Amino acid sequence: MAELVPVADHVARILDTIEPLGVYGQSLLDAAGLPIAEDVVAPMPLPPFDNSAMDGYAVVFHDVADAAEDHHVHLPVVGEIGAGQAKLTAMSPGTAVKIMTGAPMPSGADAVVPYEWTDRGVAQVQIHQPPKLGQHIRRAGDDVEKGEVLVSEGTVLGPRQIGLLAAAGRAEVQARPRPRVVVMSTGSELRDPGQPLSRDSIFDANSFMLAAAVRAAGGIPFRVGSVPDDRAGFTEALHDQLVRADLVVTSGGVSEGDYDVVKEALRDTGTMWFGKVAMQPGKPQGFGVVGDDEVPIFTLPGNPVSAYVSFQVFVLPALRKLQGHRPHERPTRTARLTHGFTSPDGRAQFVRADYDSSVVTPVGGHGSHLIGDLASSNALIVVPEDVTSLKPGDSVQVLLLDEAY
Ligand code: AMP
Ligand code: MG
Repeated sequence: MAELVPVADHVARILDTIEPLGVYGQSLLDAAGLPIAEDVVAPMPLPPFDNSAMDGYAVVFHDVADAAEDHHVHLPVVGEIGAGQAKLTAMSPGTAVKIMTGAPMPSGADAVVPYEWTDRGVAQVQIHQPPKLGQHIRRAGDDVEKGEVLVSEGTVLGPRQIGLLAAAGRAEVQARPRPRVVVMSTGSELRDPGQPLSRDSIFDANSFMLAAAVRAAGGIPFRVGSVPDDRAGFTEALHDQLVRADLVVTSGGVSEGDYDVVKEALRDTGTMWFGKVAMQPGKPQGFGVVGDDEVPIFTLPGNPVSAYVSFQVFVLPALRKLQGHRPHERPTRTARLTHGFTSPDGRAQFVRADYDSSVVTPVGGHGSHLIGDLASSNALIVVPEDVTSLKPGDSVQVLLLDEAY
């Protein structure tokens, strides 16, 4: 029997082959959700200029310092500054200028008296409460100083980072594109949902599941659907798709059956490794590059649970490397086991499970066709190769399948 390759070795082989996609300028909103591929330095301070934090009157503090309920200070109002309408840029002592929130402070003023502390006068204003020196002024640079790093390379751009970059005037940022991933199922028994089934056919679950998983990982899936177990047909379908692929993921056709055509077809056309990984489910695996552009291709086993676990363990890290996300592999979390079980010696086991608040319960049976159990799981318990039995209360490592990282 061919030797079993440890999971970590297969992951390393994959990550050695995968190179991040090229970086290019993308419009700010298109880059939402992507890791930025540059350090962005503030080209100016934020706020960019001293401005009013309130609707009120710009004044010279000294003029209004002793205003009180029983001692109103009267000042002539010599002008008005609205946000985006700063015709007036300076004022002299003994005057007030009406000013709106966000409008630039006139030079000479050193405090703002909010409307609430005045009679809201137009030609002249009565002030009955004094501001402190500098009060209600938002100073240039008090949020961000010019030259400060706003967003550092590798940061995933979420709404807050996008907002900051827009505030600093960036219309475009350097980022990697979303990887285009061609997803193909193989199997003459497969039919698309919505089509009639005969007694020997089943619906194609994998191409939908894997395409959805690609999308959840930030890629753009192209679901080809299923191709029959026909070597020439598979080869043709694959080559038709390669032009638009940064990555190809197939399922089925890599075991030892009589009609496992993926392996046969790719032996001729690609630079491929096919073998057995020391894991359950997901033992038969294939990985390599295909076509003139050397597009990386994963050939996953056909059982839906095997295909899904293989995606999590092998394809997801590759997709993340293509995009420049770190870490590549999903980090494990520690959890306490509610029920014991046994595990094969010499193979890592990935057990479907339900995780809640650091407690984890295995779900369902071992069969890799049990897609119902898979759907009611939110975690995989990772049992190392050399562990053969686990007891209730044991501490285990889990992969949380829906957790962003
Ligand atoms: P294979 O790896 O092609 O030998 O397939 C293993 C098992 O998974 C068989 O029972 C297949 O019918 C099933 N299978 C393969 N591909 C799919 C798919 N796309 N959706 C659902 N089941 C599948
Ligand atoms: Mg098959």
